[in-house]
Amino acid sequence: MKRIAIIAHDGRKAEMVGFLKDNGEIFSHVKLVATGTTGQYAQRAGLEVELKLSGPLGGDAQIAAMVAEHALDAVIFFRDPLGKHPHEPDVQMLMRLCDLHNIPLATNPATAGYLLKGMFE
Ligand code: PGA
Repeated sequence: MKRIAIIAHDGRKAEMVGFLKDNGEIFSHVKLVATGTTGQYAQRAGLEVELKLSGPLGGDAQIAAMVAEHALDAVIFFRDPLGKHPHEPDVQMLMRLCDLHNIPLATNPATAGYLLKGMFE
C-alpha cells in the first residue's frame, strides 16, 4: 500500500478536502498520514488517517522525519503562499528533505492530480 502524507495550511484546507473527495476512491487505498488539523478534516470527509501533531506544534517536522526515513511514498502539501507561518522553518525543512531524498512533493492541487495519475494509473 502506498503511503502519502497530506498537509494543508489553513487557507488551503477547504481545497484539500475538495481534492480528497474528488479522489476518494484512490485515497481509500492509500495509507494516509497528516498533520493534526488537516487530518481531522480528512477524517470528517470519511478517510482513515494517522494523525501527527498539528503543523505549528511539530507535525511538519514529524512528517519531514518520515521522509528522511523513506517511510513515505509522496507528500501532498497545499501551502498558503499568501500567509505567514510561525513554523516556516519546519516547512522549509520538509521541502528540503523531500528534494534530498527524492520523495515526490506536490504543493498545489494541479500538481497533486498529476502525481496521483503517475502513481496509480
Ligand atoms: P495542521 O498543520 O494540519 O495541524 O493545521 C498544517 C500546517 O500548518 O503545516
